[in-house]
Amino acid sequence: MQAKLSFHGAVGGVTGSCHLLETGGLKLLVDCGLFQGDNQWRSRNQGDFGFDPASIDYLLLSHAHLDHCGRIPLLVKRGFRGKIICTRATYDIAKIILLDSARIQEEDVEHWRPANLRDGFKPKKPLYTTLDALDALGYFETFTKYDKPHKLGDAVKVTFRDAGHILGASFIEVDTKGGQRVLFSGDLGNTGKPIIRDPSFARKAEVVVVESTYGDRNHKSVDESVEELIGCVLKTFEAGGNVVIPSFAVERAQELLYFFRKFHEEGRLPRSDVFLDSPMATSVTNIMRRHPECFNEETLRLFNSNADPFSFPGLQITRTQTASKRINHAINNAVIIAGAGMCNGGRIRLHLQRNILRPECSIVFIGFQAKGTLGREIVDGAQEVSILGESYKVKANIHTIGGFSSHADKDTLIDWLAHGGRHSKVFVVHGENSAVSSLGSAIIERNLSDEAIVPELHKQYSLE
Ligand SMILES: [Zn+2]
Repeated sequence: MQAKLSFHGAVGGVTGSCHLLETGGLKLLVDCGLFQGDNQWRSRNQGDFGFDPASIDYLLLSHAHLDHCGRIPLLVKRGFRGKIICTRATYDIAKIILLDSARIQEEDVEHWRPANLRDGFKPKKPLYTTLDALDALGYFETFTKYDKPHKLGDAVKVTFRDAGHILGASFIEVDTKGGQRVLFSGDLGNTGKPIIRDPSFARKAEVVVVESTYGDRNHKSVDESVEELIGCVLKTFEAGGNVVIPSFAVERAQELLYFFRKFHEEGRLPRSDVFLDSPMATSVTNIMRRHPECFNEETLRLFNSNADPFSFPGLQITRTQTASKRINHAINNAVIIAGAGMCNGGRIRLHLQRNILRPECSIVFIGFQAKGTLGREIVDGAQEVSILGESYKVKANIHTIGGFSSHADKDTLIDWLAHGGRHSKVFVVHGENSAVSSLGSAIIERNLSDEAIVPELHKQYSLE
């Protein structure tokens, strides 16, 4: 019987990854992510999955970003009773991400409850609760070694390979009952990153589902970006200011610690305080220390020599609100790393309040800033912004450093696909329209596939 593939997210945008492969009498789901962005995207989370969750045998999870794992508790709540297979590192991070997501949803419902009651609406219910998230964690089965095939049912084999995107991330090969190989890229990493290894290359596969987040552009190198970062820090310190860096809690915050440790060891960082003011980033840093099996050679060497890749003199980890408030006393020579990465929540807003009005300070953006977020407003050059309900003139220097992305750029994606030879079908997902079409055209131009298909949501495709 022919294998069938359908797409239930990451179509027409980058969020909500969820693909269903049916082969050998099994239903395999690859990822089950949350839709993120404006109200229209988020409203999809409450909707149908496009399949019956109870009918799914296995969920293969590529990595622990919310747009790949964030609907798992809902999947379980709606009847899924199969197994969720992923690396141990992915599970450890997903645990934190899912519990945090449940807490945010519970708090959001509580926040709107009085207004809903006042306006005569029924109070909303959270998509899932902390208890739902805890329940879902019981369905995980984990492993620590990449490249080892797992047999599912009588005739299907799946192999997780190193995607080099975030700790534990994988791309997934499925060898179907009919003898075809279907390859799911998950999110592929950028090359030359610190801490984790570069992505492994694709192997020969008849069908590929490839992400295209940066399918229409190439990044600056990581080395250039690191020089930009230290240059900006030194200039700001000379001017007598602080450097504020909004950062994602997973991977980016640890990379920053890694680079600042290196600056310190190389004697390039003057006497300063570096604050990591994000409890979630601190937890993820601790998880990283438990997973040396995911490290690249340089980080592993450090780790094996008992050096901590994420620690150095001058680093201050602030867990509590009180400790966070004490950072307000830092007038100059401080680097403040805090979440949320797009400034749409979290402690970073308090640090922006303190520093954005000061022309001697710098705000350094090192990650993607989505439309509609405070971060995007600042990056786009707003003269005045509203932070926690108060208006602030933007007087600090605003820098954007692009090369720290944890996603492969266009050339890296093409290179990755080319290593697998020629494919008969490539489905292009997980990108804005321009990125999807640009990568699709490049695939055909480079003769990497007969077809580059942009799939439709919930539509089923037969794989010959
Ligand atoms: Zn990701």
